[in-house]
Amino acid sequence: MKQSDLLNIAKTYGDPVYVYDADKITSQYKRLTKAFGAVRHLKLNYAAKALSNISILRRMNSLGSGLDTVSIQEVQLGLMAGFRPESIIFTPNGVSLEEIEEAAQLGVRINIDNLSILEQFGSKHPDIPVCIRINPHVMAGGNSNISVGHIDSKFGISIHQIPHLLRIVELTKMNINGIHMHTGSDILDIDVFLYASEILFETAKNFKNLDFIDFGSGFKVPYKEGDIETNIEELGKKLSERFNAFCKAYGKELTLAFEPGKFLVSEAGYFLAKVNVVKQTTSTVFASVDSGFNHLIRPMLYGASHTIINISNPEGRERYYSVVGYICETDTFASNRRINEIAEGDILCFKNAGAYCFTMASNYNSRFRPPEVLWHKGEAILIRERENFDDLIRNQIDVKDLFTEKEAVKMK
Ligand SMILES: *Cc1c(COP(=O)(O)O)cnc(C)c1O
Repeated sequence: MKQSDLLNIAKTYGDPVYVYDADKITSQYKRLTKAFGAVRHLKLNYAAKALSNISILRRMNSLGSGLDTVSIQEVQLGLMAGFRPESIIFTPNGVSLEEIEEAAQLGVRINIDNLSILEQFGSKHPDIPVCIRINPHVMAGGNSNISVGHIDSKFGISIHQIPHLLRIVELTKMNINGIHMHTGSDILDIDVFLYASEILFETAKNFKNLDFIDFGSGFKVPYKEGDIETNIEELGKKLSERFNAFCKAYGKELTLAFEPGKFLVSEAGYFLAKVNVVKQTTSTVFASVDSGFNHLIRPMLYGASHTIINISNPEGRERYYSVVGYICETDTFASNRRINEIAEGDILCFKNAGAYCFTMASNYNSRFRPPEVLWHKGEAILIRERENFDDLIRNQIDVKDLFTEKEAVKMK
């Protein structure tokens, strides 16, 4: 997408606004598919929670993707977006047995990540096959908030509990059709990932009726210049080879599954916000935009570093800025960033705004959540309207008759 296209979208739809480039989603999908070209049966299940707008889900469905979901509502959204139930996998954590049963009734594939629910589900529904989520206890990436396969993580069934797991399967006569792991959000070292995969293969040997092995996600995409990116091609080559060898030994052509979120949508997204105030202080120059962590929380929540460019003045000389929001909290998007000179009214563009950005937005400070625009074949298509005051007040109940003015507290 060109910067001028983004500027035009901000003009047409106002600011702040999220923009997603459909072509970028397609090229990422193709790149990942190609990297695992040596595998006969490959299935990518897009992780809906990264960006769950129904039109984005439709795009994924049209590409041939499946859907990875973590709540019954995401399952329902996926069905509404046209996914066949068997193309949806429900991979929740810490949800009730009832929610899992509801998903099973809708015909989606079930992934269970603890022994308690596995035993209950297997006892009641031995005829419904389930996938199991294993925690291989491998530390992937450096940030423990986004690394979910290590020993302290709440996710998955520990590999040390396999004997207990096998006992449950035997006693309930349930059928395990898949093995799954999701080690965290950053695969920095392919060898670490391959090591975790070995644990998964080892576990898989215990089950005779598998259809698939799901390696989760964690593909890292660059957020700023110099960032390490997962070498998808190398990973694809090495894991495909290993997977094919495993299938041969196992005696069945299994499906190799992944659940990428960030990899497919992060770089396709742009967040555009307008600079309301440029404020020179004794320590820095603040550029305050018409947004905050109510719209984009990743920098404050994870310390994520989103590249920010001034698309209103791309040729201007570079200066140092602290980019902050307009809500009444410390909501710093970036400190000491070199950005082309900013004037009040300029539109700043935050890159990598496709994954975990809009989906984490809130109404904090009673602000509206921004609209979402899809850029497809050189055309801007509105896929979510900006909220308005009615949206904000919709579920609130005004108890106007409950309190009377007579109760006014006298301040004497
Ligand atoms: C969030 C999540 C993903 C997607 O992770 P990304 O880092 O966005 O690719 C995949 N699988 C599960 C189970 C998840 O919870």
